[in-house]
Amino acid sequence: MMRVASPALALLSALLTHSVAQAREPALAADVTMTGDLSRDDFRTYRYETFSVPKGVDLIRLRVETSSDDPSTAIDIGLEGPGGLRGWSGGERRPHIDVGRLGASPGYVPGPIEPGDWKVIIGTPNIREGASATYAITVEFNPPSERINARTGWLRGDFHVHTGHGDAKCAAASGGVRRCPAHLTVEGARAADLDFIAITDHNTTSGHAAAAELQGHHDDIVLIPGMEVTTFDGHANAFGLSRYLDFRIDRDRDFARLARDVADQGAILSINHPLLIQGEACMGCGWEVPDVDYGAVAAVEAVNGATLARLGSVETPLSGVEFWERLLDRGYRVTAIGGSDNHDPTPGAPQPPIGIPTTVVWSEAASVDAILAGVRSGRVYIDVVGQPAWRLDLEASTGGQSAVMGGALSARAGDVVRVEALVAGAEGGTIEFIAGGRDAPLGVGAISGGNAAPAVTFAVDRHARWVRAVLRSPGGKIALISNPVYIDIVD
Ligand SMILES: [Zn+2]
Ligand SMILES: [Zn+2]
Repeated sequence: MMRVASPALALLSALLTHSVAQAREPALAADVTMTGDLSRDDFRTYRYETFSVPKGVDLIRLRVETSSDDPSTAIDIGLEGPGGLRGWSGGERRPHIDVGRLGASPGYVPGPIEPGDWKVIIGTPNIREGASATYAITVEFNPPSERINARTGWLRGDFHVHTGHGDAKCAAASGGVRRCPAHLTVEGARAADLDFIAITDHNTTSGHAAAAELQGHHDDIVLIPGMEVTTFDGHANAFGLSRYLDFRIDRDRDFARLARDVADQGAILSINHPLLIQGEACMGCGWEVPDVDYGAVAAVEAVNGATLARLGSVETPLSGVEFWERLLDRGYRVTAIGGSDNHDPTPGAPQPPIGIPTTVVWSEAASVDAILAGVRSGRVYIDVVGQPAWRLDLEASTGGQSAVMGGALSARAGDVVRVEALVAGAEGGTIEFIAGGRDAPLGVGAISGGNAAPAVTFAVDRHARWVRAVLRSPGGKIALISNPVYIDIVD
């Protein structure tokens, strides 16, 4: 009857870690599996299976399997840490139980994951004389993030939304304006038909516990745990946090320290609305953080919804596109993304709507890790207008090599590169190709037919480190912004 580390469990675990683990820190220790038998001797007792938690654990995941030869046997499960009881899920068997610093499965309390001895509690409210039962419990530390649903490929989302855990406010039941609960933001994202949102409140992760609860219900939307690092000299979103991030940059803590803290937890940084005007009207809004290593920055918010709503276009000196291009020209491969910066998700609120802009990420799975891996890969475009039927990808080639958006070609000065924009929808619009070191577009192609592939060729020079495209709607406004294909210039 005894089942030890069942092959099914091992397979499940392998499936869950498939191909999306690269964004996380390596596992801290081998998984722990504990098994045991129960008999009438265990009737109305608690048994404890102890496991040791090393330093640096942000999340413990338990997988529990039980079986008995008698259906009247009841086996309860709970968890105790060095600091006391952490939760109870009774006789309910779930795919897994998570207990993390910032969020936990229902029935469990998020909070510090102290190193030391932890105990899974096995309670036996009922087991009859002569009956026997077994349990197998697997413990994982800092597991890869969970797949929320089966979607894959182009996932649409909003990388910048606020809730009442920050400064989002909306009309309460009484009509008074109060802090806005996180569930309204998630419902707003569903109404916008998004596949993911990043919850990015100013300098706090207190909304992550609510998000962990909401994620169980809203399993059509991946909720990315983020924070808008809000400093005296600029704002940057951190995505994929598993513990509270020290946001302070001052005389004693510099950008390098922040970047290290972000990287240590497998998270990424994106600079927000970098070209807003810094001043008393908007303290810290423009990006003036000193001594920034842009190699530690994964993304730039090239389109901020609040700025877009105010000015009606991305072609203004306040949009982040120019800041992003300057980084590209300096050789940094930072991904352009967008976020609405919504502070009130209720319909009709005087706010940039959730999903304007939308960022569209090629993702191997609907999980936090996979979406962030997609951002790192650069196969991402920004949908400024919220047009799910319009698509944009790039394919570039030279001398037998080819690369898609986010990828790189190597070329010598003088080599000819061909770039093709793969477009769906937007009939009557145009594609504009833009390359590093050129003031004017490389070329403009008309979009005709449902699936078009306008292309341009150009000779590489030493400034042409990247080539990208924008799609203009039939009315001439920028609707989609691609990320570049990069060019490694070799001698
Ligand atoms: Zn901001
Ligand atoms: Zn914001």
